[in-house]
This record gives sequence, structure tokens and C-alpha cells, in this order.
Amino acid sequence: MANQLIDSFGRVHNNLRISVTDRCNLRCTYCMPEEVTFMERSELLSFEEIAHFVRVAVPLGIDKIRLTGGEPLMRRDLPRLAQMIAAIPGIRDVGLTTNGILLANSAQALYDAGLRRINISLDTLDPARFRQLARRDGLEKVIDGILAAKRAGFHPIKINAVSIRGMTEAEVVPLAQFARLHGLEMRFIEYMPIGADHWERDKVYFAHEILEQLERQVAPLVPVDDYDPRAPAMEFRYTDGGGRVGIIASISRPFCMSCNRVRLTADGKLRNCLFALDEVDVKKLLRTNAPESEIADVIRKNVAAKWEGHEINTSRFIKPLRTMHAIGG
Ligand code: SF4
Repeated sequence: MANQLIDSFGRVHNNLRISVTDRCNLRCTYCMPEEVTFMERSELLSFEEIAHFVRVAVPLGIDKIRLTGGEPLMRRDLPRLAQMIAAIPGIRDVGLTTNGILLANSAQALYDAGLRRINISLDTLDPARFRQLARRDGLEKVIDGILAAKRAGFHPIKINAVSIRGMTEAEVVPLAQFARLHGLEMRFIEYMPIGADHWERDKVYFAHEILEQLERQVAPLVPVDDYDPRAPAMEFRYTDGGGRVGIIASISRPFCMSCNRVRLTADGKLRNCLFALDEVDVKKLLRTNAPESEIADVIRKNVAAKWEGHEINTSRFIKPLRTMHAIGG
């Protein structure tokens, strides 16, 4: 069908994740190296180029956008981009994934720009552990950012925590309690091989272990009634009315067969998978005023060629050259 982005496995893609910068004010070990050369400013797509790309992608079936990075709030004037994208006819949802460090000052402007859903990364409530994982300080700023997002009216606010064995087991319960207290949705994400550090399967603190810990130390859980099989998170609700919690079991229960996502990097490369080894340069097309039909064709072909999914659980897995901060989470 002309107005759907379908790959050879029949997966329909409506979800575009746009990275607006590779810069970050943290250096999380599971995401990026400590020393890093960032992209030149001139390499980054302008807001106008991003909006142009979205306008081409919408008639192909893209209706959901998430702004990512790096840390997207490092990109000056981000609310203006959010507003430009939210105003494109056919876009029904614009979300943001942020580390929260700069959120306190921009939450209201982002909300006013039309953003409604926000995911904030927070792996721990312990300042020393935060410094160890992020290689920077900033826990208080993140908490301030979360509370500012709440005041601004964002709903839902999801808190994303990466779960690493030997590192974050003790964080699960305090984070869950914090989320319950503030009406946030906590989401625990199995640790993936997409950063600069050496990944080992033994370091994954698995979904079933997190669930067992939550049930034992917080409250019993049952799957939510409106469970969406296309969403990456398995969602549960506390039976005591304490809200929801999500588990993203990227390793132990890969959800690739229901994947609906494509990614545009900050430097204008289209990637049909987080772990893709190939990418297509759309910046060149955008900067040479290529016909929209040509850009649309490139998007269609990129999605059509998508592989079955990551092969982290096999010996065939090859880690992409780009680390997470340069792809967009
Ligand atoms: S690994 Fe690739 S195919 Fe699997 S869910 Fe993530 S983006 Fe989709």
C-alpha cells in the first residue's frame, strides 16, 4: 500500500524517532564513551530540514514522533522544533526522551509547544551511584526536571531506568516507590550492547528478576487491560492501586517482530533499526532539493529492507559502529 511503510515481515512502521543532537551533558557508561568527538554543528539537520523530512514521511504512514539525542535539550530552541512538528497535519503524537538535566527550565515551554508525552531517564536515586553510572553529577537537577514536567501537565511521565546486574538491583525498589509516590510510570530496561563499554549477557538484570523483586518488595502486579503488543514495554499495574510499571525486556523477550520504528540521526542518516549496520544518507537529498518522491522512495526502500531484528542472543550479533548517543535512543 502506498500510504504504509511495510517491511518484508509485514511490519507496519508509523513511529519515527528523530535525534536532534549527539551532544550530552552526561556520559552514561551504557550509552557513550567518556571522551567523544561530537558532530560539527553544520552536520546536524536544521529544524527546517527535519520538518521537511517529517512532511515527506507523514503520507507514508508516519504519525508518531519522538525527539531524542544525545540529550535533545542540548539543542537550542527545541520547543520551536516540537511546535513545528506538532503542527504538521497527520502527526498525532510528539514525545520526548530526555535525561532531565535541563528540563526544569524548559518543561513548560515544551508543553506549550504541543508536547504531551515525556520519558525521563533516571537509573538511580542515589547520588554516588548516579555519578558512577553517568560519570557526572546531576541527580537533583533530574528530580527538579521531573517535578517541573509534572507541574507543566505532562501525562504520562515515564521514568526509564537501565537495569545492570551488580550495579542497579538496589535501585529497583526506591525508583518504583518514587514513581508510585509521584504518579509516574517507572520502566525498567534490560541493559543492551549499544554503548561504549564492554557488554556481557551476565550483566543483564533480567525482566523476570525485576518483576519478582517488585512483587516481593513493593506490591503484587498484574498485566494491564489495555496492553499494546506493539509497544516495547510489557506493562503491569500494581493491584494495590499504586499505578503502572513497564518492563522493556530487549534481551530476554525481544519485541522486534512487532517493531514499528525507524530512526533519523542528528546528521541525517535513516536507520531502520537501533542496531542497523547500514544507514541511508537523507541529508544529502534534503540539502540538494531532491524531489519529495525521491526522498519518499528512499524511506520506503529503507523500511522494506529491514532485517528480522537484533541478534544479540546469537553469535551472529555485530555491534553497530555508532554508540547510542549518536543514533538516538
Ligand atoms: S532491535 Fe531493531 S528491530 Fe528490534 S525492536 Fe529495536 S529497532 Fe526494532
